[in-house]
Amino acid sequence: RYRLLLSYLVVTGSVLGIFAFTMYGIVARDRQHQLNLQIRQLATVAAVSFDTIQHEHEELFQEAEYSDYVESRSLDPSGFISLSDLMEKYQTHSSSFDITPVQGSATTSLPGLHPLTPRHQGIEWFDSQKLPLVREGDRFPSMPLPSEIAPDGEWIQTKDLRSFVLPISVAVSSTETTVLGYVRASESLVPLTTELEHFRQQLALGVLLVSGLVTIGGIWLTHQSLRPVLASFEQLKQFTSDASHELRNPLTAIRASIAVLQSHPERVHPSDVQKLQAIASASEQMSQLVDDLLLLTRLDRQTHDKHTWRIIPLDELLEELGHLYGDRASQSDLTLIVDALTPVTIQGDADQLQRLFTNLLTNALKYTPAGGHVTVTLRTSGAYALASIQDTGIGIAADQLPHIFDRFWRADHARTFDRGGSGLGLAIAQSIARSHLGNITVSSDLGHGSCFQVKLPIYPG
Ligand code: ADP
Repeated sequence: RYRLLLSYLVVTGSVLGIFAFTMYGIVARDRQHQLNLQIRQLATVAAVSFDTIQHEHEELFQEAEYSDYVESRSLDPSGFISLSDLMEKYQTHSSSFDITPVQGSATTSLPGLHPLTPRHQGIEWFDSQKLPLVREGDRFPSMPLPSEIAPDGEWIQTKDLRSFVLPISVAVSSTETTVLGYVRASESLVPLTTELEHFRQQLALGVLLVSGLVTIGGIWLTHQSLRPVLASFEQLKQFTSDASHELRNPLTAIRASIAVLQSHPERVHPSDVQKLQAIASASEQMSQLVDDLLLLTRLDRQTHDKHTWRIIPLDELLEELGHLYGDRASQSDLTLIVDALTPVTIQGDADQLQRLFTNLLTNALKYTPAGGHVTVTLRTSGAYALASIQDTGIGIAADQLPHIFDRFWRADHARTFDRGGSGLGLAIAQSIARSHLGNITVSSDLGHGSCFQVKLPIYPG
C-alpha cells in the first residue's frame, strides 16, 4: 500500500513539477517578449521625434542667452539635456516648438510618444557621433553606445536594465544610407523580475497546496484501489485456512487407518508392505504441509498477538536446541557448535520461536554435506538480540537469495540435494520473526556455506 501510494505521489509530483516548470517558462517567455516589444516600440516612436529634437537642441546651443542656463541646470554630467527643460525654455521663447509637457505628470510627451512610465522607462537621443543630445524619463546610469550597431537595432542587457539602440538613417542613394543619430530606449527589469518572482512564489505555493490535496486523495485512492486486492487476498488466506482444516480430518483418518494396518502386519499382503510405507510417509508429509499452511495463515492473521507471549531466555532456548540436534548432527557426520551465547531475554511465543530456530537449524544440517560444521551464536547489538546460524554447506546463489523466504520456493540444487521439504520452512521462520518485531537476514556463498541472522528485540524489563 505504501509503495503504491509512494509511486502515485512520485508520478503526480513529477507531473505537477513539470506543469509548474512549463507554465513558468511560458509566462516568463511571454512577458520577456512583451517587454522587448514595448522597448522596441518606444525606440521606434522616439525615433520619429529625432529631427525636432536635434533641431531644437542645436538652436538652444546656438543661442548664447541659454548657455548659462544649460550649464547650470540642464546639462547633466553625462552631457544630456532633459527634454522637459528643452521644452520649457522653448515654449516661452518659440511657440513653434511642437512639444508639450503632459499635464500633472513628471514626464513629457512628444507627438506620438506615449508618456513614459515614471521610474521604469527612459529614452536617450544621440547625434551621429554617438554624443548625447537629450534624455527623457528615468535616469538610468549612462553608458556609452556600443561601437557596432546593426542597421535594424541592437539589444543591450545588463543585470537590471534592457535597452534597444535604434540607428536613425536616411537613404542618400539607392544603395547608401547615412546615420543621422541614434535613439536608445531602456526599461528597468526590476518590475518584471519582481513580477516573475511573485509568480514563482505563487506557483510554488500552488504546487504545495495541490501536493497536499493529492496526498490526501492518494491515500483515499490507494485505499479504494487496494480494497478488492485485499479482499481477494483475505479470501485466499481464508481458502488456504479452510482447505487446510478440511484436509486435516481425512488425513488424520488415513494416518490412523495406516497405523492400524501397520500394527497388524500379518493382515497385510507381503507385496503391499512397501506400498503401505510409501502411503504412510506421503500422508505424514501432507499432514506436515497442511500444518505448515495453517500456521502460516495464523501468523498472517495475528498481528503482534501478545496474549501467548512470555519472557524467554533466548540463550537457553538455543542451548536446548543444540542438545536436541547434537545427535542428529553427529549421525550425519556434522559438527554442531552452540557457542558464545550471550545471556539475553526476549518476549514472545515460545513454541513459535522454537519453530523458527528449529527450521533454520534443520536447514543448516540438511544442506551441509558430511564433515561440515554448523555454528550457532548469540550476541546483542543495541536493543536487539542477534542469533546466527552459520553452516559450511552448499550455500545459495546470489540471484536466488531474494527468493528464499518466498512460500514454496526451493533452490534447484536443493531439490536434488534433498528430497524432503516443502519450501515453507523459511517463510514460516520469517513470518514468526516479523510477528515478533524482528527479521531474518541471510548471507551466503555458493558452495561454501550460508549464515542466517535472526534479529529480535530484547525484552526491556
Ligand atoms: P525446504 O523445506 O526446501 O528446506 P525452506 O523454506 O526451509 O524449505 O528453504 C527454502 C530453500 O532455501 C531451500 O529449498 C534451499 O534451497 C534454501 N536453503 C535454506 N536454508 C539453506 C541452507 N542453510 N543452505 C543452503 N540452502 C538453504
